[in-house]
Formats: sequence, C-alpha cells, structure tokens
Amino acid sequence: MTNYDPYAREISVEESSDDATARTILMYSQIVSSIVEHRIAPGTRFREERLADLFKVSRTQVRKVLQRLELEGLVSRQPRKGVTVAAPTAQETKDIFEARRLIEPWIVEQLCQNCSRKHILDFKKIIKEENQAHQKGERHLAVRWSGEFHRSLASAAHNQALIKTMGELTLRTCLALLANKASTQVTCRNQEHREIIEAIEHKDNKAAARLMLAHLQHIEDSLELPSKTESTDDLDLLLLGLPLASPKTVKQSKTRRL
Ligand SMILES: [Zn+2]
Repeated sequence: MTNYDPYAREISVEESSDDATARTILMYSQIVSSIVEHRIAPGTRFREERLADLFKVSRTQVRKVLQRLELEGLVSRQPRKGVTVAAPTAQETKDIFEARRLIEPWIVEQLCQNCSRKHILDFKKIIKEENQAHQKGERHLAVRWSGEFHRSLASAAHNQALIKTMGELTLRTCLALLANKASTQVTCRNQEHREIIEAIEHKDNKAAARLMLAHLQHIEDSLELPSKTESTDDLDLLLLGLPLASPKTVKQSKTRRL
C-alpha cells in the first residue's frame, strides 16, 4: 500500500505503447502529482520547450497534455501569459465546494446502503496511510491521501459520471486550497474521515451525510479568501521532489491514452 500511487491507474499505458507515449503520460502524471501534493503554486507558467526538453517529448505531445489539463480545469491559457497552473478565484472555489456538498453526502448515503467489506477495509487503509503521513510530517503525502479518500468513496459508489466528476473536483480543490493559502494541516481532518467511515459501517445514512457536509464545510472554512499566490517561472521547481522516472516505471496496463 505504501507504494500505491492513486493516480497511476489513470495514466497507465498499454504494453504496446512506445517510449514517447510513456514519457508523455509520465509528464501528465508528474504535473498532476505536483498539484495534488501541493508542490506547485497556482500561476506557475508552463513553457512548452522546457517541458519538451525535460521529458524528451515533442512539443506536439506537450500541447496534448496541456490541452487535457486545460479541459480538466487544472491549467488556464491567457493572452501574453501563456499556459499557467489555474488559480481558482473566490467564486470558482465557492462553486467547487457547493458542487462537492451536493455530491458527496449523496455518495456516502449510497454507500450506507451498499458497500462491501472490502471497500470498508480499503477506506481504512487509506485513512491509516493518511494518518501515518501526518505523523511522519510528510505533508505532501498526507494531502495526496486525503484526496484519495474522497476519490475512493466516489469510486465505491459505482457511478462512472460521478467518479470522473469527483476526480476533477478533488484536483481543483487542491488548487483552490493552494490559491487560498489553506493550511494543509486543516484541509482534511483525519478523525473526520474515520467518523464518516464508522457511520457507513453502521449503515447510518443520516449521520454519514451530516458528517460529510460538516467535513466539507470545515475544509472550506479553513480557506482565507481571497489571497494572492506566489508563483514561479522556474519550471524545474514544478518537479521538485519528483524524480524523473524512466518510462518503464510507468504502470503497464490498460486504460486511456492522452
Ligand atoms: Zn476529507
């Protein structure tokens, strides 16, 4: 579980994919990881040539990745500034949390009616990993596990549209937290995750929905809207702490291409 990468499954490649495709997928995954783990500030500029150079891919491949990130709301394109990491405004942040408050209580209510023992054990493993990361002071990892907790709830509810939506909302929440200078210590309270799972285990749908609503409210309340973020033009900082792995390390299996 320690080496489990929540985002690997989304960026994995088919065995027949060539190295260039694998490197392109790796670039996407490293950028998303940087956002998820709060290593990269909203407003950071992406330079096509530099990304192409870093990942040894063509600029066409770089553009494909940037277009996908733009569609997912993770980067924005502005005249004269080029492509930068998106910085959700106060209104956008409010919208993101409003959407989550509508969706996630429903998800946990569904899980109270229909949730396998295996899913419960998986949720508990994630909470344990998150807790250990907090205890070891591994802030980036803790943030990642917090996001994965919410994504895994959506995944267990078996609604493909919601899984996709929640994947994007949790990523955009990461940006909103960064853009609004939230302390990662208070973004997701580990104890609250535990209480939500206990309610699901007891099939108490009212308590589960209420706890989820309160949890999302706590996260939103931890934001200090609005604030100016510090960004950097140094693309290498984007990948700080993320070793440029060989394409061979990218998980080899089915799933979508960029
Ligand atoms: Zn949470």
